[in-house]
Amino acid sequence: MPNSLKSCDNPPKGVLKCMEDIRRKFFWGETDEEKAIPWDKAIWVQILKSIHGDKCLNIDVSDSGLNSNWRELMKHLKDPDIRQLIKRKCGNGEDTQFWKDRWFGNQLLNERFPRLFNIEEDKNCTVAERIGNRGFNWNWRMDNLRGRLDEQRIQLELEISEARLSTETDRWIITDAPNLEFSVSWFRDTIRSLDPVEYAWPDVWSPWIPKKKIILAWRVIRGRVPAKSTLADMGIDLPDVLCPSCKDQPENNYHLFLKCPLAASMWTRISQWWNMSTPDFNSVKDAFEWTENCNIKETFREVMKVIIIANLNIIWDHRNCIVFDNKEGSTDLAFIRIQEEVTFWLESRSTKIHIDRSNWFKSPFKTISL
Ligand SMILES: [Zn+2]
Repeated sequence: MPNSLKSCDNPPKGVLKCMEDIRRKFFWGETDEEKAIPWDKAIWVQILKSIHGDKCLNIDVSDSGLNSNWRELMKHLKDPDIRQLIKRKCGNGEDTQFWKDRWFGNQLLNERFPRLFNIEEDKNCTVAERIGNRGFNWNWRMDNLRGRLDEQRIQLELEISEARLSTETDRWIITDAPNLEFSVSWFRDTIRSLDPVEYAWPDVWSPWIPKKKIILAWRVIRGRVPAKSTLADMGIDLPDVLCPSCKDQPENNYHLFLKCPLAASMWTRISQWWNMSTPDFNSVKDAFEWTENCNIKETFREVMKVIIIANLNIIWDHRNCIVFDNKEGSTDLAFIRIQEEVTFWLESRSTKIHIDRSNWFKSPFKTISL
């Protein structure tokens, strides 16, 4: 069974699930296009707040008011492996927690000195509150430290005596690359690298394509669209698993998006439009790799990606019209729709592509100026 179907039977759990949620929100905000949140207001800001702020970390994960994805995320943010990815670089120390942020060495100070943390009066104190210009400003719950506690205090002072505050603001940095600031792109790449198998998929992201169209493509290549065979594999009882369009083959991703007469015809027309050899795909993933061996400019590859994603969407729409509205559209119209949608997206969403519409539908390579 292909991996894509396995993932339907066993949806990724734990960290992978969490990472996928994070990744999806990074890329697309909310899944509803109209409600998409700006990237800089996206979840990564909340991640920082939650790693940093005590309030967030004290949220009761059983609180039913929090949505499940967020609860999942909150749990994993306590995971030391994930928290190891970034650390705090202290400037003035005013926005870094002395005990609970990793700002000195590789360990949290509350873990390195648990006895001292235990007698700390203000467990959320900042670095600036504890390290002054004239020495340390401790605030213990007892007046005089003795014995083991005092030894620990001396050890702590010895270790952090190298710490120097400056006038700069505190920042998040990447543990393995202290010169880099935490950024969306870094986090995205990191999430991908956490599971190379899961993310060894074609990159379906493009600023030239509406988000909900990208989401469909993402689901298609992972076998997560509810085609009949996929549903049957998940144990859902259906009267039949035949393709609603040709009624000849089981409806699965491979058939629906590549081999069904409508799909096959669409791929052929697209290849003719672009004067490329007609593809013979073994998987939807192949469609995205189709252009890799063609000697075309990078921008054209990006345009082809737009077309491929448009095609997957139109095939899926076409199928749903048959299933839900009992209407079968024509292949001619479907192909015209692809051309129109792609043209509209490129014209309205790309600043670097200019299309000469008079020849665009005949010889697209010649009519795009970059
Ligand atoms: Zn079919």
